Amino acid sequence: MSINKKKFKGFSSLAIHAGQHPDPMYAHITPIYASSTYVYDEAEQGARRFSGQEEGYIYSRWGNPTMNEAEEKIAAMETFGLENNGVQLQAKSLLHASGMAAISSLFIATLKKGDKILTHYSLYSGTQDLMKTLLDPLEVEAIIVDLRDLSLAEKYLKEDAKIKMIYLETPANPTLQCVDLEGLSKLAKQYRKLTACDNTFATPYLQQPFKFGIDFIVHSTTKFLNGHGTAIGGVLLGTDIEFMKTKATKTHRLLGGNSNAFEAFLLINGMKTLEVRMQRHCDNAMKVAEFLDAHPAIAKVNYNGLPAHPDFAVSQKQMSHPGAMMSFELKNGFDAGVKFMNKLQLCTRTVSLGTCDTLLSHPASMSHSSIPREQRLEYGITDGLIRLSVGMENIEDILDDFSQALAR
Ligand SMILES: *Cc1c(COP(=O)(O)O)cnc(C)c1O
Repeated sequence: MSINKKKFKGFSSLAIHAGQHPDPMYAHITPIYASSTYVYDEAEQGARRFSGQEEGYIYSRWGNPTMNEAEEKIAAMETFGLENNGVQLQAKSLLHASGMAAISSLFIATLKKGDKILTHYSLYSGTQDLMKTLLDPLEVEAIIVDLRDLSLAEKYLKEDAKIKMIYLETPANPTLQCVDLEGLSKLAKQYRKLTACDNTFATPYLQQPFKFGIDFIVHSTTKFLNGHGTAIGGVLLGTDIEFMKTKATKTHRLLGGNSNAFEAFLLINGMKTLEVRMQRHCDNAMKVAEFLDAHPAIAKVNYNGLPAHPDFAVSQKQMSHPGAMMSFELKNGFDAGVKFMNKLQLCTRTVSLGTCDTLLSHPASMSHSSIPREQRLEYGITDGLIRLSVGMENIEDILDDFSQALAR
């Protein structure tokens, strides 16, 4: 379980090698350790493992060699090239059964009755629902405001001492709004608040929230990190190693939202190609955005890589590329949206994101259907909005499919 000490010059080298430990059976690739428990040579060893005197696995809800490789790999990627006073920044990560499980662990490990969360609107719908349905009855209130306005954020921080955490998601679903990680992190430090960021859309290849002093990162690894749509998963990372080893680990173990060896195995193998996949996703996305932006049937393209996007400057500042997610509005609203979706021949009609194939969804009827229409519209999720996760097909084929689906 030792941390991989090797220094890597490049992101892919790290993504491929970090977290892998020599296998006792000399397996090249870390096997799927499908074992619920681990044995002791003698009773005393069991005692040493339980007391923490000796490193070693005990029970797979607590830790597992396959899950451990995935955890170390993600921690290495989120801290790649980051230093704190001249030393490599360290983070500890906990692999979960899903992004939602990781977010739940974060909230339960850090918040208590009476605490408040300050957050931005247009969060992942599950996160918003979790705040409303599960945290509210526990008397943990979420204040949802436009955190792109730093002076508004400061006003809340100044006036409400009960705010314990600023919870961010950037870029955010599905209008690709970005909040200023550096600005909000500075404010949080000034007012002694915790900060957390959902980095699912960007991945550590495009954005490293720890660089800006964010305390916790969560991911749905289901998306770009896995990259192939084969497993649900999530991760919680933190740079306060002591907190991660104690309170966060305890919460993870007691809630039981652990991952499993098979899905961790799929995730590990997906993450090894993150850099090359993201480069292709991003190249394609820029071309798709330009194509859609120039198309007469389209009223608006929400892509933070287009200079007209309100958060273009913020995304340029904190991301190495605007990414592969976007949304757009068809001129003729809901009906045009449904018609377009039904005419697609190559691209896939589905929710979720981050797979090799191009995925399109219609938030108004799918992911955001549980949010009241007025609130939805306030968040910029109009009836005819289409969300798009640009895949890695050859660009000519993606554009051909869109052209024929947009033709009258
Ligand atoms: C999918 C997603 C989640 C939830 O993750 P699951 O793995 O589905 O539980 C959280 N945040 C964002 C941004 C997501 O896209």
